[in-house]
Amino acid sequence: MSTSTPTDSPPSLLGLSPDNLKAFLPSDLPAFRVNQLLDWIYRKRVQSFDEMSNLPTTLINWLKDNASLFPNRVLLLKQASDITEKLLLEAPDRSLIETVLIRYPQQGVGSETSRKTICVSSQVGCAYGCKFCASGLAGWKRNLSAAEIIAQFIHVGRLEDRRSTASKDFPIDNVVFMGMGEPLANYDAVIAAIRALNAPWGLHMGARRITVSTSGLVPQILRLADEPVQFRLALSLHGASNEVREQIMPINRKYPLETLLPAVKTFSEKHGRMLTLEFILIEEVNDSLEQAHLLADIARDLHAHVNLIPYNRVEGLPWKRPNNARQTAFAKVLRDHRVSFTIRKEKGHDIDAACGQLRLQTEQNRASA
Ligand code: SAH
Ligand code: SF4
Repeated sequence: MSTSTPTDSPPSLLGLSPDNLKAFLPSDLPAFRVNQLLDWIYRKRVQSFDEMSNLPTTLINWLKDNASLFPNRVLLLKQASDITEKLLLEAPDRSLIETVLIRYPQQGVGSETSRKTICVSSQVGCAYGCKFCASGLAGWKRNLSAAEIIAQFIHVGRLEDRRSTASKDFPIDNVVFMGMGEPLANYDAVIAAIRALNAPWGLHMGARRITVSTSGLVPQILRLADEPVQFRLALSLHGASNEVREQIMPINRKYPLETLLPAVKTFSEKHGRMLTLEFILIEEVNDSLEQAHLLADIARDLHAHVNLIPYNRVEGLPWKRPNNARQTAFAKVLRDHRVSFTIRKEKGHDIDAACGQLRLQTEQNRASA
C-alpha cells in the first residue's frame, strides 16, 4: 500500500496497519509502542509527534526524522453556513483538497446532537467530465494517497473534538465519498482509507456509516462486491435512459445502463445492503415524468432508495434546477410507484454546494491574483 504523496518529505504514518507500522518502526521497539502510537494518531488525534507524551524522546526524535503525520497543511477552515463547514487542505504540490462537514439538525433537539456527515475527496479534479459538475470542469490532476484521505477524516474529527466532551470515539456519524473525484478510479487508496476508518486500530467507525459514491465504473463495482468491508454504495445515476444519461455523463458511453445496472445489482445482492441511486434534477434535461417512470422501474428492480437532488447552479454552466412544481410532480411518480425516496429541500442548497465548489473558487482566485 502506498501512503506517499508527491513530495520529498518522509512517509506519512496515516493508514499503516499495526503490522505495517511495526515493520516500519525500529526493530528493537517493544510491541506496545505500536498501540500507543495508534492511540495518539486515531483516538487522541494529535497534530505532531511532540504531543505523544508517553513515548520516549529517542522514539519521538526518530519519528521526526523518518516519518510524518499529516501530508498536507490546513489552508482554510470556513463556516459556510449554519450547517456546513469547509476544510481546504493544500498539498506540497499546491493541489487543493476539499472536505466538508455537514451538521444535519435533528428535529426538536439542539445542534450538539445533530447528525454529522463528512464529505471527503478522493482525487484532485476528476477525469469523468460530467457536464453538470464543478469537480469535472478543470479535469483530473492526480489521485490522493490513502494518507491524504485519512487526514481529511482526522482533521474534521478534531474540529468536533473541540466542541464535544473528552470522548475518544470518532465524533462523526457518517462518511461519504462524494467530494472531489471518482473514488473507484482511485480504488486501492480509497479501500485502504476505508480500512483505517473502519478498523478497531483506526477510527473504528461502523461500515454501514460509510458510503462510496460512484459515477458507474463497472469493473470496479464488481470488484467492490468482493471486498470484505460492508460499506454502502451510492450510484450517481442522473439519467434513467441511456439517451438522457449520456448527454450529461460521458462515462455512460463506456458503461451503459444495460451493463451498469446488473453490476450494481450484483453488488447489492452480495452485500445485502440497500443501494442508493443519486438523481440530480436538472431542468429540461432529466426532469420529465417519463424519466420519473423509468427511474421508478430501475429503483424497484434494484430495491434501491432514490435520493433526488435539485441541481445546484455552478457558475459558468448553463444548467438550472426545476421549479418546485416540477420537482413535486417528479417525486409524486416515485411515490405512486411506492419507491423509497428522499428529496433535498431548500436547506440542501447549501449542503450540495458544499461538495466540489470551494476548490474551484480558490483556484479561480489564485488565477486572477
Ligand atoms: N464521482 C463520484 C463522487 C463525487 S460526486 C460520483 O459522481 O458519484 C458526488 C455527488 O455530487 C454526485 O452524485 C454528483 O453527481 C453530485 N453533484 C455534482 N455536481 C452537483 C451539482 N451542481 N448539484 C448537485 N449535485 C451535484
Ligand atoms: Fe467526476 Fe463525480 Fe463530478 Fe462526474 S459527478 S465529474 S464522476 S466528481
